[in-house]
Amino acid sequence: MTDIAANLALIQARIAEATARANRPAGAVTLVAVSKTNPAEAVAAALAAGQAVFGENRVQEAAGKFPGLRPDWPALRLHIIGGLQTNKARDAVRLADVIESLDRPKLAVALAEAMAKEGRRPDLLVQVNTGDEPQKAGIPRAEAEGFIRACREEWGLPVRGLMCIPPAAEDPRPHFLYLAELAARHALPVLSMGMSADFEEAIACGATHVRVGSAIFGARG
Ligand SMILES: *Cc1c(COP(=O)(O)O)cnc(C)c1O
Repeated sequence: MTDIAANLALIQARIAEATARANRPAGAVTLVAVSKTNPAEAVAAALAAGQAVFGENRVQEAAGKFPGLRPDWPALRLHIIGGLQTNKARDAVRLADVIESLDRPKLAVALAEAMAKEGRRPDLLVQVNTGDEPQKAGIPRAEAEGFIRACREEWGLPVRGLMCIPPAAEDPRPHFLYLAELAARHALPVLSMGMSADFEEAIACGATHVRVGSAIFGARG
């Protein structure tokens, strides 16, 4: 059995250390516990251990787990972190507190419409494909600036920050630094970067949110 409470305590301690090492204030970094593929019981165990912020990459899976937990845990915050189809935009807007995977104009339009219909405006992060990998989600580097501007000015979306998943085989550092610089240039306060394998480096580069799954819930099957 995975000891979720013990894993969370360890990750929080490592986050605190990395934050201090980077001369950043305590509490500057929020842990997003990525609970995808894990059952609602695992999320409940994490909530009982004091964790409030969770990440899921599929809307349907999140819809099955989170609404039932909300009444007992009012502090719960759900981030959608996976590739989002336009036909799931409305469900995502209804369910999520933050959507981290805004990465193309069609989705921006769908989210703007869904927000108007639902009367709900979750925070949005623009996902940037910092490695310009053909198979990966995210707006390509060359289009990122124009897309960020259009999201805010043309579609009136509540864009609060940026998210990236660096190429698996590369040093993530240049990708983290690029994303931090891009966020600063657009005065965006939220930087979601770093996972189980590299969250300490991400914190050194300015991450405000780290998305950690397997180091908390165990390896996914
Ligand atoms: C699964 C996932 C994570 C967490 O990955 P781990 O290596 O298990 O920590 C972070 N971000 C995204 C977008 C993911 O899909």
